[in-house]
Amino acid sequence: MREQLEALRDDAIKKIEQAQEKKVVQEIRVKYLGKKGPVTEVLRGMGKLSPEERPVIGQLANDVREAIGKAIESKMEALEQAEIHRKLQEETIDVTLPGRPVLKGGAHPLTATITEVEDLFIGLGFSVAEGPQIETDYYNFEALNLPKDHPARDMQDSFYFTDELLLRTQTSPVQARTMEKYKGKGPIKIICPGKVFRRDDDDATHSHQFMQIEGLYVDHGVRMSDLKGVLQAFAKSFFGEERSIRLRPSFFPFTEPSVEVDVSCGICHGDGCRFCKQTGWIEILGAGMVHPRVLEMSGFNPNEYSGFAFGMGVERLSMLKYGIDDIRHFYTNDRRFLAQFKRV
Ligand SMILES: [Zn+2]
Repeated sequence: MREQLEALRDDAIKKIEQAQEKKVVQEIRVKYLGKKGPVTEVLRGMGKLSPEERPVIGQLANDVREAIGKAIESKMEALEQAEIHRKLQEETIDVTLPGRPVLKGGAHPLTATITEVEDLFIGLGFSVAEGPQIETDYYNFEALNLPKDHPARDMQDSFYFTDELLLRTQTSPVQARTMEKYKGKGPIKIICPGKVFRRDDDDATHSHQFMQIEGLYVDHGVRMSDLKGVLQAFAKSFFGEERSIRLRPSFFPFTEPSVEVDVSCGICHGDGCRFCKQTGWIEILGAGMVHPRVLEMSGFNPNEYSGFAFGMGVERLSMLKYGIDDIRHFYTNDRRFLAQFKRV
C-alpha cells in the first residue's frame, strides 16, 4: 500500500510538471484528489491493515494528497505568471517607431502677396485701413463719382441684397469712408487690402470674388510725379530692381487724370515676346489723381488738397510674380498647388 501511494504521488507530480495549460492541471486535480480518485481508492482498503499500520498509512495518504495539492497550486501560479508575461509581451507598444511627420503650413500665395505689398507701403509711411464687405450703394458707387445711372457701373455689376445694399465691387469705399472720417483735414496715407465681388463668369482670368489693394494719398500739393515715384518704388521692390514702369492715359470716374500702369516684361525685358503680346509691357494696375468731385463729396476742399489713388488686383500680381496661369488655382485648396508656396 505504501508503494502504491508513493507511485501515485510521483506519477501525479510528473504529470503536473508536464502540464502546459491550466485546464490540464484542473483535470489532474479532479483525477487524483477527487472522491473517485486513486488516493481515495487506496484508503478504502485500509480496513485490511493491522491497527499499527493504519495511522502510518493514513499519515502517508495525507502527505501524498498535500504534496499533489501543493504541486498543483504552484503549477497554477506559474502558468498564471506565464500568461501575464505573454500578454505583456504581446501588447507592448514600440515607442522607438518613428512618428508621422507633422504637416507644416505656409502662407497662401494671396496672403503672402498682400503681406509683401503691405510691408512695402508701411515702409513708405502708409497705414493699413479696412472696411465692410457688404457696402451701401452710396459708398461703393455714388461717393466715388458714379451716380446711379452712370454707364461705368456696368463694368462693375455686383451682387445686391437690396437696392441699397450690395457686396462691394472694389475696396475704394474704404477710401471714401476714411476721407469722411478725416473731416476735410489731411494728410491721409492709406492702403486698403480686401475681398471684392463682381458678377463675372469664372474663367482662367476672371473670378466672381477676388482681392484688391488700393492706395490713397491726400495732402497739400500731391502731384502726379509723387504717384509715379511711389508706383516705381513698388514695382521695383515687388518685381525686381531691373523693372521699370510706364503710365498710359485711361479713364476712371473717380480719378482725373487717370492712368493704366504697366511694368516692363520680366521675360524679354522690353523687346517683345509672347508673354507680353510683343509689347514689352505688362499691365499691373490703374491709378490717377483723385477727382476734385470725389474730394469735395468726402469733405475735402479741392482747392486746398490734392491726392492720388491706385488699385491693383492681388491675384493678378501673384499670377505675374509666381507664373500662375489660372486664377481658379487660388480658390480650389489643392495641396499640390499650395505646397509650392511654403517658403514664399
Ligand atoms: Zn515680353
